[in-house]
Amino acid sequence: MTDFKKIISHAKEYGFIFPSSEIYDGLSAVYDYAQNGVALKKNIRDYWWKSMVQLHHNIVGIDASILMHPTTWKASGHVDAFNDPLIDNKDSKKRYRADVLVEDYCAKIENKMDKEIAKAAKRFGEAFNPEEFKTTNPRVVGYQEKINTILKRLGQSLEKEDLEDVKNLIEELEIACPESGSRNWTEVKQFNLMFGTKLGASAESAMDLYLRPETAQGIFVNFLNVQKTGRMKIPFGIAQTGKAFRNEIVARQFIFRMREFEQMEMQFFVPPGTQKEWYDQWKQTRLSWHLSLGMGAENYRFHDHEKLAHYADAAADIEFKFPFGFKELEGIHSRTDFDLKSHEEFSGKKLQYFDPERNENYVPYVVETSIGLDRMFLAVFSWALRDETLEDGSTRTVLKLPEVLAPTKVAILPLVKKDGLPEVAQKLMDDLKWNHAVAYDEKDAVGRRYRRQDALGTPYCITIDHQTLEDQTVTIRDRDSMKQERIALDAVGGILNEKLDIKNWLQNI
Ligand code: ATP
Repeated sequence: MTDFKKIISHAKEYGFIFPSSEIYDGLSAVYDYAQNGVALKKNIRDYWWKSMVQLHHNIVGIDASILMHPTTWKASGHVDAFNDPLIDNKDSKKRYRADVLVEDYCAKIENKMDKEIAKAAKRFGEAFNPEEFKTTNPRVVGYQEKINTILKRLGQSLEKEDLEDVKNLIEELEIACPESGSRNWTEVKQFNLMFGTKLGASAESAMDLYLRPETAQGIFVNFLNVQKTGRMKIPFGIAQTGKAFRNEIVARQFIFRMREFEQMEMQFFVPPGTQKEWYDQWKQTRLSWHLSLGMGAENYRFHDHEKLAHYADAAADIEFKFPFGFKELEGIHSRTDFDLKSHEEFSGKKLQYFDPERNENYVPYVVETSIGLDRMFLAVFSWALRDETLEDGSTRTVLKLPEVLAPTKVAILPLVKKDGLPEVAQKLMDDLKWNHAVAYDEKDAVGRRYRRQDALGTPYCITIDHQTLEDQTVTIRDRDSMKQERIALDAVGGILNEKLDIKNWLQNI
């Protein structure tokens, strides 16, 4: 996997992601998607939407507003409990999330464990059984126990809001500030992550609002509207993609943690008592969705939560191996009936469903799947970016994006800018553009053009040469294998349709 700095600079240089308002030196943890980035982002969103909404007869979509009635956030618990524990280092004046400092400490122990395992794998060769080693090697077992004890204590202290103990833990572990190296910490304080804003023209009558910190509440408050107008029968789901805003304490990891980001969420409403089954099922369905993109099963793992949010009776993350280690990519939460019940209480309106099979009214339970679109972008982009040394010793940078997500699917390249080749290329482009995102490039030697498309992640290049004029054939070059094949000009459309058909990807789920 490529170095993180290189990922950020590649994203900028090739028109994927720019810092926001860069001419004013940018805005911390806010980014703009550029011409190629917006296409990749849209393709990821579509891939999610199709698998959720189009392929499930019992899931429908909505698009709720970012601004909502402020009582929403009282009812959801965000006004009182959407906090992160923050701690400052008095010497560097840097601010940290206290829980993240502890988790990073554990990640370092995990690194040591991985090194131990890698060493043993080398020593034992083929006979090595990593699972057995992890449970029997005293040093590795010790590391794992240490991690478990620390995380358990952190979870319990956060659950009880015992911030003093979080500080004690940081001190006991002798965690130092990564900037100053000092252990001169302030107390741990809670910090609310919601952005406030005002609605209304005059100061007296203005209403205090929040920018939504999650898209889910727009679904909860519309639950009955959708159920009634869509004549939905439980179990059913409501899906939504859209912006969310969080005033994150620390945001230093590019688009991993942003202050303005996009979520793709689905709330699945189920009869009380069946939530565990649905939770297990959605965990598997969502993991399969990720695996369908072919980015390697070894790069994903589940992390079951010790500390549960105020609304959940079970929660797990799907973690992905980012360049800085395994981190949360998606959350699957069993949210009980907390949200709907709370909205009933605060609004005085019933949010219940009459179940004809059970012959009773109830507030449904909810299992949600929630993934950050930008974080998914980073997962795909960082996994795909490679520097390769070729057989002849030269190097190339290639973005091996899953073809179905690539911003441009095919580049049409006339070998030279004359002899009627551009005209043939233009005609092919006009044929293909109805179904695919097509690029045209006639500048520079064809080898340089291939490299440019490699760096942009374009899976196929079609080259038009003099032979095309004689026998109506072209070459198709594959980004990953770099193999070129001669095919009939009129076969190009069919081949691309087959290779890029979303069905061939999603039906693996
Ligand atoms: P974290 O622990 O990383 O702060 P979270 O547990 O608060 O995340 P959720 O509230 O479960 O996150 O949000 C669901 C998903 O939204 C996350 O899995 C992540 O992909 C995405 N997400 C959350 N916060 C951000 C952010 N600041 N920037 C980008 N994506 C985010």
